[in-house]
Amino acid sequence: MTHPAQPTASHFINGEYVEDTNGTPIPVTYAATGEQIATVYAATPEIVDRALSTAKEAQKAWAKMTGTERGRILRRAADIMRERNHELSVLETYDTGKPLQETLIADATSGADALEYFGGLAGSLTGEHIPMGEDWVYTVREALGLCVGIGAWNYPTQIACWKGAPALACGNSMVFKPSETTPLCALKVAEILIEAGAPAGIYNVIQGMGEVGGALVTDPRVDKVSLTGSVPTGKKVYAAAAEGMKHVTMELGGKSPLIIFDDADIDNAVGGAINGNFYSSGQVCSNGTRVFVQKGIKEKFLARLAERTGNAILGDPQDEATSFGPMVSENQMNIVLGYIEKGKEEGARLICGGKRADMDGYFIEPTVFADVTDDMTIAREEIFGPVMSVLDFDTEEEVIARANDTEFGLSAGVFTNDFSRAHRVIGQLEAGSCFINSYNDAPVEAPFGGVKASGVGRENSKEAIKHFSQVKSVYVRMGDVEAAF
Ligand code: NDP
Repeated sequence: MTHPAQPTASHFINGEYVEDTNGTPIPVTYAATGEQIATVYAATPEIVDRALSTAKEAQKAWAKMTGTERGRILRRAADIMRERNHELSVLETYDTGKPLQETLIADATSGADALEYFGGLAGSLTGEHIPMGEDWVYTVREALGLCVGIGAWNYPTQIACWKGAPALACGNSMVFKPSETTPLCALKVAEILIEAGAPAGIYNVIQGMGEVGGALVTDPRVDKVSLTGSVPTGKKVYAAAAEGMKHVTMELGGKSPLIIFDDADIDNAVGGAINGNFYSSGQVCSNGTRVFVQKGIKEKFLARLAERTGNAILGDPQDEATSFGPMVSENQMNIVLGYIEKGKEEGARLICGGKRADMDGYFIEPTVFADVTDDMTIAREEIFGPVMSVLDFDTEEEVIARANDTEFGLSAGVFTNDFSRAHRVIGQLEAGSCFINSYNDAPVEAPFGGVKASGVGRENSKEAIKHFSQVKSVYVRMGDVEAAF
């Protein structure tokens, strides 16, 4: 019997599902059981071409509609997503393995927020009038054209919407390629947009591995590439986009610091560290995986952290009581287990977890290492799993220098009850998305993105509009033209 997660077809082009079984089969595995639940096929060159030419053509009429008309469609799509939140969350859980307890509140809902927010902004995208004496300049905010979105596997619905919603609001069209690990959810976003009244062809989804992403990025019809992925992939995609002088947004990885001063509320700080390390089983780019704890409160913090981490409920992700799911894939589980072994070998003190859970699927116990030093592999490399490294520090000056000593710069957090210190420290941290006495909040109203190797550009908020549009300036002369001859 076909599993309910099996999509109608692999791709969604020009307003309808399209199949082409000549492409490489991509098995979709449910991470909680290891069972294959669906198959899709990678896009063949014909499918890539069809998606791009459709999107290129459809964009012209879409850009001519008023922003209010475009926005109405996006807002309708947001409403449909909210009405179907349960069904979409169940699918997200099959796609990623994340527990329903999370997907019910963090995925389709976040996608709907983006559609609603950018739908609301669409009618307000205007230029400026710049007086020049009798003459004047006016500016026009124009669409870029055809945008490509390439997604990672941790938030397939959210990423499809965080890229699609601002792109469409500005009058662009999009071809979106999900990660081969989680190909299911973006198809639903495409389907819902059509149901909401979007013209066929403005939002298309095609499947495939890195080569399909590469073919999209290098195609001369494409004007912009927005990638969510790892730093190594980001470097390749950025370089390939530069060849064609294309616009880019790069949302890449991190190894973010979370700094806890000795005057912090311990339970709130522990809560922040848990949210910043164990949500989505640690598969979150902005996670605060280097938890710097001031020496005076170290043992108290570790004791409370171990106690609360012991309350995680590992189990069937479709059961709403489950609060901690598996790794997205066997491959990712093995990568993370490799890092845990490295942590043990390099002398970090294991506080809790530290191994694969004794159950079906790709579960790893939430793991905390203490006495981690800056040179250890687990303190330097992005693990993308439930592995928290706790490091000690003495002074504010020291911790700022150590926190910044990384190629990454996505996020940073500070817990303290001294507000001048909180702002002073945040002001010196090299990171794009920061938190004070909190961690990992990502409302659509707030800009999101990294500095240094963690990325280029910003998603969400009004900032995203700048990255999906360009400004034309027009000088208007009212009098005669003076010329040298
Ligand atoms: P990858 O970098 O492996 O892949 C990201 C996407 O790029 C996938 O769709 C992948 O396809 C595609 N891709 C791979 N190679 C190429 C290429 N040469 N040209 C074009 N596209 C290509 O990341 P993961 O999927 O493993 O996701 C995890 C990473 O994403 C983590 O490092 C994490 O930090 C980062 N991330 C960043 C976020 C942010 O907003 N800053 C949010 C979430 C994750 P395929 O998978 O099919 O090979």
